[in-house]
Amino acid sequence: MIKVAVNGFGTIGKRVAEAVKMQDDMKLIGVTKTRPDFEAKIAAKNFELYSAIPENLKLFENAGIEVKGSIEDLLQKADVVVDCSPDKVGVQNKNKYYTKIYIKAIFQGGEKKDVAEISFNALANYDAAKGKKFVRVVSCNTTGLCRLLFILKENFKIGRVRATMLRRVVDPKEDTKGIVNGIMPDPVKAPSHHALDVKAVIPDLDIVTTAFKFPTTLMHVHSLCISLKENVTPKDVVNVLEKEPRIFLISSEDGFTSTNKIVEFAREVRKRYDIFENVVWADSIGVDGNELFITQAIHQEAIVVPENIDAIRAAMNIAEKAESIEKTNKSLKIGELSRFL
Ligand code: NAD
Repeated sequence: MIKVAVNGFGTIGKRVAEAVKMQDDMKLIGVTKTRPDFEAKIAAKNFELYSAIPENLKLFENAGIEVKGSIEDLLQKADVVVDCSPDKVGVQNKNKYYTKIYIKAIFQGGEKKDVAEISFNALANYDAAKGKKFVRVVSCNTTGLCRLLFILKENFKIGRVRATMLRRVVDPKEDTKGIVNGIMPDPVKAPSHHALDVKAVIPDLDIVTTAFKFPTTLMHVHSLCISLKENVTPKDVVNVLEKEPRIFLISSEDGFTSTNKIVEFAREVRKRYDIFENVVWADSIGVDGNELFITQAIHQEAIVVPENIDAIRAAMNIAEKAESIEKTNKSLKIGELSRFL
């Protein structure tokens, strides 16, 4: 049993902690919170709670929340820590704690690439992450791109990829920044960082990306245009994508006319409406000349959860790629959404 700690119990951390608990080859030994708010109270009821900031231990005691110790105590007991702290805080935790003791660490996409030895996507480069000490799971947008493009590249001769990301501006829980009545090019000058991140995982892919922030919190949407080096029909692409559990094919004919409707569907079938799969509109898949068009939606709060579980197995070298992905998929019921349609 691999002993796993989750440092940072926010949007990603709480989902990763729950997912770890569902695995039969891992044991969640604790999670951290920085201060005793309502999330800490919920965390303490379901998990062994530790203080992410050693100096804040007293705050938890004063609030009557049982904590088992500080992050330093938690790390002593763990084989691997999944760092789910805010952007650029992971690298601080690395320097402060993870390099000082013998522990492996999984970082998130908000960290710079050089925080880890490898940027990770389970389908695309699981084997290269085997046994690594520090692994970075790429961001939600990059995970969505890597999954789809890896599958296409494995099955068809493709050339240059142009992708535009229409990004949700913040997550639903944010109350200090967020929705403004406008659309923001981010960055203004192409390419966006996503292309570089995808290339960190799939180095030989020719890709350029642009990105815009939209006043919505539900999901990202990606519009892709991929040049083809062989004759491919939309049906060929659908046939390949429907075999991959981490891709969920939908159709506007079923009423999936927007991210609103995708979320409404997921609210009926998944806790917190977590969608771990890329949601691809089958009827968006079209070929015009030698160009393939695809539109997909990505649930930013959930898509990296399975990748974190696979990253743990790869770093700990306890399973082959196919075995890990299958275990993760089964435990999180990935690939089962089409049963509801
Ligand atoms: P979040 O703000 O929801 O959660 C971060 C948690 O870490 C909070 O509970 C915060 O209190 C805690 N924290 C603060 N300082 C800490 C410290 N020093 N040590 C440990 N914990 C600390 O953030 P999030 O959205 O879960 O993002 C976490 C990481 O995942 C970031 O790198 C982000 O870029 C990445 N990510 C986020 C999303 C998303 O859409 N939310 C998607 C993919 C990847």
